Amino acid sequence: MTAKIIDGKIIAAELRGRVADEVARVKREHQLVPGLAVVLVGNDPASEVYVRSKHTQTQAAGMASFEHKLPADVSQSDLLALVARLNRDPAVHGILVQLPLPKGLNTEAVINAIDPAKDVDGLHPNNAGRLAGGFEALSPCTPLGCIILTKSVHASLEGMNAIVIGRSNLVGRPLVQLLLNENATVTIAHSRSRDLPGLVKRADLVYAAVGKPEMVRGDWLKPGATVIDVGINRIPKDDGKTRLVGDVAYQEALAVAGAITPVPGGVGQMTVACLLVNTLRAACAITGLPKPAV
Ligand code: NDP
Repeated sequence: MTAKIIDGKIIAAELRGRVADEVARVKREHQLVPGLAVVLVGNDPASEVYVRSKHTQTQAAGMASFEHKLPADVSQSDLLALVARLNRDPAVHGILVQLPLPKGLNTEAVINAIDPAKDVDGLHPNNAGRLAGGFEALSPCTPLGCIILTKSVHASLEGMNAIVIGRSNLVGRPLVQLLLNENATVTIAHSRSRDLPGLVKRADLVYAAVGKPEMVRGDWLKPGATVIDVGINRIPKDDGKTRLVGDVAYQEALAVAGAITPVPGGVGQMTVACLLVNTLRAACAITGLPKPAV
């Protein structure tokens, strides 16, 4: 048996297309142009690549994209002043401060300063709390993407056993809440969990968000399980370059799983597409329009 490969590229492109259609509709019917502001502090090369990709995809969806680049030695108060300005700006419906911030800046204070209605990364405690309470919320983009990828295989997740490996605020914890909203039965595992292979063996749905290359082995999996690999790990190659691998031993898992996301070309593709979804939803909510059809 070889697992079905869940193609994040195709699913993300389809989602971006639906966002673009809805953006065109709200422009036409309500003269609303959703706007996303991205704040990049310093010049971390990986962050610069992510920010460029967000900018390109935001514009391609027909939204306004505002980029703010600040030097790595910007003061906390100047960064907070920019966030306050974006909070007040009516052309901005989504604010994303690219993480990680350079040392010396207080990430928690910056996240807390973002207007929760514009918090398209879903990291503000108001949104995290609302999500945990089962209320309508802006949810973090990567977990949203994981759910969409899973639903490309299973129309309903009701009653399925899911395991989420990793409990970060960015991925693991919100993913657990989204799975609960889908009526899955969820186990959350982390570095102190005992017998991880045994826990994984019981799961119909496996989410690996650890940051450890190929940690989840093929023989841990229940035959036929759906595997969503969130991990992005850079492994050095002999020629001095690097290659990307996930948190799951992909070749081994292919022989056991029912469906699996590749790395690259899986979850990573979905994160920016879901950021566009969140920006559109935020724009509609802020301006009093009904929730968009995406
Ligand atoms: P964090 O480092 O914040 O969290 C890692 C989690 O893994 C922690 O909860 C940690 O447990 C757990 N963990 C560490 N070692 C083990 C172990 N041996 N067994 C079980 N659990 C373990 O990472 P993130 O959640 O931010 O990211 C996870 C991965 O996902 C990374 O590879 C990252 O690059 C990738 N990522 C990909 C995105 C995408 O768009 N595809 C977006 C965001 C992240 P504990 O809490 O006990 O320390």
